[in-house]
Amino acid sequence: MSPQILKIALDVPLDRLFDYSYVGKAQVGARAVVSFAGRNLVGIIIQIVDFSEVPPDKLKPAIHVFDDVVFGAADFKLLQFCADYYHYPLGQTLIAALPLRLRQIKPAVTRKNFVYALNSSANLDEIPKKQAVLHKIAHALLQSTLEANYHAGAGLGADSLAATSSGWRKAILALQEKGWITQTEVVAVKPSLRSSNVEPSLNSEQQHAIAAILSSSGFKPWLLHGITGSGKTEVYIQLLQKVLAQKDAQALILVPEINLTPQLEARFRSRLSQYPLVTLHSNLSESERLQHWQVASTGAAKIVIGTRLSVFTPLPNLKMIIIDEEHDSSYKQQDGMRYHARDVAMVRAKQLNIPIVMGSATPSLETWRLSNSTLATQTQASKAQYGLLSLKARAVVSAQLPKIHTIDIAKSPTENGLSPILINAMRERLKRDEQSLLFINRRGYAPVMHCNACLWVAPCMRCSARLVVHLSQKRLKCHHCGHEQKLPLQCPSCGNPDLHSIGHATQRLEQTLNDLFPHANIARVDRDSMRNKEALTDLLTKVQNKEIDILVGTQMLAKGHDFPHLTLVGVIDTDTALFSPDFRASERLFSQLMQVSGRAGRAEIAGEVLIQTAFPHHALFDALKSQDYATYANALLNERAAMQFPPISYFALLKAEASDYGLVSQFLTFAANAARHLTQEVTIYDAVRPQMERLKNMERAHLMLQAPTRQALQRLLKIWMPQIRAEKLSNKVRWALDIDPLEF
Ligand code: ADP
Ligand code: ZN
Ligand code: ZN
Repeated sequence: MSPQILKIALDVPLDRLFDYSYVGKAQVGARAVVSFAGRNLVGIIIQIVDFSEVPPDKLKPAIHVFDDVVFGAADFKLLQFCADYYHYPLGQTLIAALPLRLRQIKPAVTRKNFVYALNSSANLDEIPKKQAVLHKIAHALLQSTLEANYHAGAGLGADSLAATSSGWRKAILALQEKGWITQTEVVAVKPSLRSSNVEPSLNSEQQHAIAAILSSSGFKPWLLHGITGSGKTEVYIQLLQKVLAQKDAQALILVPEINLTPQLEARFRSRLSQYPLVTLHSNLSESERLQHWQVASTGAAKIVIGTRLSVFTPLPNLKMIIIDEEHDSSYKQQDGMRYHARDVAMVRAKQLNIPIVMGSATPSLETWRLSNSTLATQTQASKAQYGLLSLKARAVVSAQLPKIHTIDIAKSPTENGLSPILINAMRERLKRDEQSLLFINRRGYAPVMHCNACLWVAPCMRCSARLVVHLSQKRLKCHHCGHEQKLPLQCPSCGNPDLHSIGHATQRLEQTLNDLFPHANIARVDRDSMRNKEALTDLLTKVQNKEIDILVGTQMLAKGHDFPHLTLVGVIDTDTALFSPDFRASERLFSQLMQVSGRAGRAEIAGEVLIQTAFPHHALFDALKSQDYATYANALLNERAAMQFPPISYFALLKAEASDYGLVSQFLTFAANAARHLTQEVTIYDAVRPQMERLKNMERAHLMLQAPTRQALQRLLKIWMPQIRAEKLSNKVRWALDIDPLEF
């Protein structure tokens, strides 16, 4: 047998495939181990051919080929699209989409769980009397088969068999040898965390939404627009009940951060308990992640709930994609291949010709624009490609919308970050035995450590950033690079022992509240206090049980939690975001404030939201008070159109960094000149330095490209990127291309 040539994609920053010879069984989509530049690497077989351009004496044999096919044709199509669109090497794209265990040089073994049943050829009389264990196991199996009346699903799993006899494994093997056993793999389905199985009857808006989505055929994007509590999740659930009733159907549900929303997962598990469900997110152990990925890719799991990376999970029978909180920026990957999971999901739905449902109270302007045919900023081509489904009422009729007010801090000045109006409102809630939530988007104790004598502020030595005071640990930390140091006892510059912490963050606010309300139970929620999923789940239970009076937290608290006794939300500091140089800042702030507002008054008691600001007349607050997302979004879209910013135009950033800024500058100048030679239709700006000029001792800058259409941008990138890769300077700096960047 003459050797085959395997064309293999490898996890190396080179945009091509590599040829290896191999004798033996090999399949496209399987993993292979090969030697590359003196190392052994795992790659993916993309093609198997007879001939290679590589001369036979240079052609190396593949070291090993694994049996299991990890990607099918549909997966390749999606990943190839991503590699092309994001201009990222195919090999790196494929490998990054795999669970870590499959990137390693070893076979992918997970312990599978089976249910064993007797088939009709079993004849228990043939078992010799003295083989007691065999008898016991066979009889247990027979018993369960009889009880199930030979229905599918009959049989016993490892647990029951082990309880019958510790020698059960050997016995099963012996019975299997006789050909008496059928085994079915079972997907581990965790019991539901909360068993609320009540199925509310849908209101007319919800019914309409489900009917519309089900009546569409093939690829169709839908925006489900409704505030928190309007019943979006209920729509997903009842929609999935219909979709999954089709034979073998699978559904993918993308969520921003699953650790933050244990209630959502619990609801899906209890309401769709007949469908095996797995989650995919970074809080799983590597072996769990592998197992979940495998049961998803065999089709055994019917529901996959996962964070952005799970958009690449192979799902042979995918029939619907749901994206919850579609506006959430955590769908965007910020290193490696900088993909946006919502955009990738859209492509996947299109390739598979299936519907995709995006839910949000504050849709991204990208999605909003494509869902509204009446907007002035529509071009003919983009006109209302998405179906818009609105849920205008709160699902539970008695639940009222929160009343939103601004507190003008010029008139009601803050002390320790809190204005008297807010303090009084909290005192009221304590009296009435209701809960309050204070929202501040900064963790730590205070953002700045400052010397009054010489005006020194504690800087990070590695970044253009200040160190944040963490008083409880007596440390200063950089929230950008992770650098930490001891809290200085005196000013390092002038020796003054009287150093001050300026500004507010969660820990300081917690301390202030403890001083103000010594008898209240106060809990802080941020990345420092909630290091694992259990901590948050415990806290949520305490809040449900009214063991907490006041919550202080970052946006971790803003997401999807149900707080029925919470009636007051105080927002501490919004003004930095209000006037941020980032053109997306107000879009983000609006959505964040809507989201925290949604925490107040979910049950029978109306909630109140108090926002401290020096700019109470800002248009953003008017829109927020009337809960009028549409008007505000349309105004923002008009602004974007006037400035030719996304989503009206399309951006790409070429980012570069090096310890020597000269190299960064040379590289970007080369890149800018090259691009300007290639295009008339794409605007190439001069290289600029980001707000964070230095990060982890690297000097940074970027080049911005602005195009009227995606196609125009892609046309340029297609010829430009190879030129950049071929340029020597590109090896002297660290560079990355960010298509459709969210941050600048
Ligand atoms: P969202 O996902 O938009 O925040 P949910 O689907 O979580 O909204 O609904 C909010 C609450 O209202 C949940 O407790 C849910 O069980 C309940 N609910 C949803 N739809 C209905 C309905 N039609 N009738 C009664 N209760 C409903
Ligand atoms: Zn000083
Ligand atoms: Zn730093």
